[in-house]
Amino acid sequence: MHAVSDCIFCKIVAGEIPCFKLYENEESLAFMDINPVSSGHCLIVPKQHGADLLAISDAGLCAAACTAKKVARAVKATLDTRGLNLLQCNGEAAGQSVLHFHIHIIPREMDDGMAMNWDIVPGDMAAIGVLAEQIRNNIED
Ligand code: AMP
Ligand code: ZN
Repeated sequence: MHAVSDCIFCKIVAGEIPCFKLYENEESLAFMDINPVSSGHCLIVPKQHGADLLAISDAGLCAAACTAKKVARAVKATLDTRGLNLLQCNGEAAGQSVLHFHIHIIPREMDDGMAMNWDIVPGDMAAIGVLAEQIRNNIED
């Protein structure tokens, strides 16, 4: 498994630093976040290093996504939480602090005051349409 020597999540995958492990399979690992934003906050990583969504393999992404579903079910069963946010940050501007792709599972309750939601404000349909066309033209197989 390709690891990056100064990557904290690679070190967790390799067992070089401890974690509260929840689940692992050949390609992914789930463990508790040690700075939880809510009780039950946990992380899913592909074992293969890649900094972010654009860097990881499709196999790593699929493995992490399937493990996120499996672990989310267990978190919900354990905490009977009203809701769950899956969060995945790419780049410093998006709040990414650990440069090894990961998916957050964040349990939510009604009116928990967490500042992660935004109001629904209708967009400029013409501008959305133009942007959609530009993005479509940049989609590669
Ligand atoms: P992000 O800001 O999306 O890159 O999230 C990185 C997350 O990794 C944060 O929520 C940290 O609390 C968490 N984190 C950092 N180091 C560790 C660690 N050693 N064990 C568990 N979680 C960690
Ligand atoms: Zn890594």
